[in-house]
Amino acid sequence: LPKLPVFEAISRHNPESTVVIHSKSGRRFQYGELLGDVAKARNRLYESAGRDDLEGERIAFLAENSYDYVVTLLAILAAKSIAVPMSPAFPASELQYILNHSEALMLLSTAKFASKAQEVLKTELDVQPTFLQLDKFQGGGAHEKVTLDKSGPGSAGMMLYTSGTTNRPKGVLIPQAAMTAQARSLIQAWEYAPSDHLLHLLPLHHIHGTINAIFTPLFTGSTVEFLYPFNADAVWKRLAAPFSNPNEQQSKITFLTAVPTIYSRLLSTFKTLPTDLQDAARESISPPHLRLTISGSAALPTPIKRAWADLSKGNILLERFGMTEVGMALSCGLDPNDRVDGSVGWPLPGVEARLVDVDTHQVIEKGQEKDLETGRERVGEIQLRGPTIFAEYWRNEEATKKEFVEGKDGRGPWFKTGDVAVRRPGPEKAGKSESKSQREWAKGDMYFILGRKSADIIKSGGEKVSALEVEREMLSLPQVAEVAVLAVPSGRWGQKVGAVVILDKEHCKEGKWSPLEMRRALKDRLAGYKIPQVLRVVEGIPRNAMGKINKKVLVKEVFREEFS
Ligand code: ATP
Ligand code: MG
Repeated sequence: LPKLPVFEAISRHNPESTVVIHSKSGRRFQYGELLGDVAKARNRLYESAGRDDLEGERIAFLAENSYDYVVTLLAILAAKSIAVPMSPAFPASELQYILNHSEALMLLSTAKFASKAQEVLKTELDVQPTFLQLDKFQGGGAHEKVTLDKSGPGSAGMMLYTSGTTNRPKGVLIPQAAMTAQARSLIQAWEYAPSDHLLHLLPLHHIHGTINAIFTPLFTGSTVEFLYPFNADAVWKRLAAPFSNPNEQQSKITFLTAVPTIYSRLLSTFKTLPTDLQDAARESISPPHLRLTISGSAALPTPIKRAWADLSKGNILLERFGMTEVGMALSCGLDPNDRVDGSVGWPLPGVEARLVDVDTHQVIEKGQEKDLETGRERVGEIQLRGPTIFAEYWRNEEATKKEFVEGKDGRGPWFKTGDVAVRRPGPEKAGKSESKSQREWAKGDMYFILGRKSADIIKSGGEKVSALEVEREMLSLPQVAEVAVLAVPSGRWGQKVGAVVILDKEHCKEGKWSPLEMRRALKDRLAGYKIPQVLRVVEGIPRNAMGKINKKVLVKEVFREEFS
């Protein structure tokens, strides 16, 4: 195998320790068998392609969350090819789009999705990928000695498609070096350790589920347990197992990383558990058992954070900010005091961040966070650079060019995230952690995300309103179960603040609720111009696989008449 840092790391781990567990069946795989299986799988790729040079080729695959997924991903990297993981939940049209767009040379699948893969291959495609079923890796104690040769990673990497929240998903090319830099950054920040046992609940075609929750633990020799498919009841049962039954062989989960909607589902399901299970479940997520509970991919509503902290006797969700193009960029620190509500913390190790004023286009230097004349906070776009950033949008030079801006210091271009934020002083104790690795980065001013420049900043009568801020306050009202705050066109104001609300059934027994009342309730929480002028109650809000809302589509659906 080529000498990829991740392979070197794996070859140094204790071969007896567990790399993957399938939660449902209890099946375990060891680090000692992983590289042997990767080498075998890589050779099958060569056989099937009829050549042993696949460098830089895109190889797409469909696999359930499993050991086979991990082997397949690593085998593609071992061939110095570009891994394109696709979601088995995608409809055929989406799979077609990705196969065509990535110009995939091969399509791999596990047995479970072989017919789905075949179906897509039968449709009219611009490419003709070779199909290969690649699964049921044995491991089975085959501790084969695999040697790493001198050759480097070449063009190995991943191509991940963005969530498609604002547009068609973009193909983001992440070279192996960026993947490794992302993993190293997270290892320092979140202190992954061989003793960590992650419960993996995420889809495997996005950076959160892949880099944060697989690639990074592989570096440190941690255990990844796949609970698939996601089911909130099963998650609680698994978390509680070692606590409800002292003879239980399963080990304790120490690490959980998920999206806000998953935490929200877990919280509501908790109430429906039998009481004896509740006690054990509660214990399992309380410190010190669950070492770290991370939330990201979308803004974390404060009520979810509070409810989780209450339920877990003080385990505060750690929020971080990331995107496909940059991996993780900002994060709160390991010290619970650093997890300030509404903040995504500091630039992660190796990541350089700056804010560029959305009005003046000037860099907001330290100490310039407030406008001297008006005293208002300056709102800026987050721009990033460093070794963790992606290489390019695949076959889209124009978009790549558009999203980077040259730095004046000659130290390389900045990536424009399209997300806007303000910076505020961090807690007094920040930067004084006992851990040296925390002191290095979790310090100074903190970032607070206001949302996407394109969809979350509502410009109403000369004021800028952050949809995320309004959502956060509305979610604090007991009547509100879910909400999306949107920019609705207005003849008078340019835009006005609109809200689409799902009511909390328990708190809104008939007749007890009206838009007027809700606006009244918001008066203590928000300045008048931030309170939604138009409010619609709906039964459901469509979200994509990562729990995100396409606001451009939603606003046109719900406030159709305002667009005429
Ligand atoms: P597309 O680019 O296709 O429209 P997307 O931007 O949702 O979709 P991703 O790369 O998966 O695709 O998501 C990155 C985005 O998610 C960020 O740009 C940001 O808007 C949002 N995000 C991630 N973490 C957070 C967070 N902690 N708080 C608020 N927003 C977040
Ligand atoms: Mg995006």
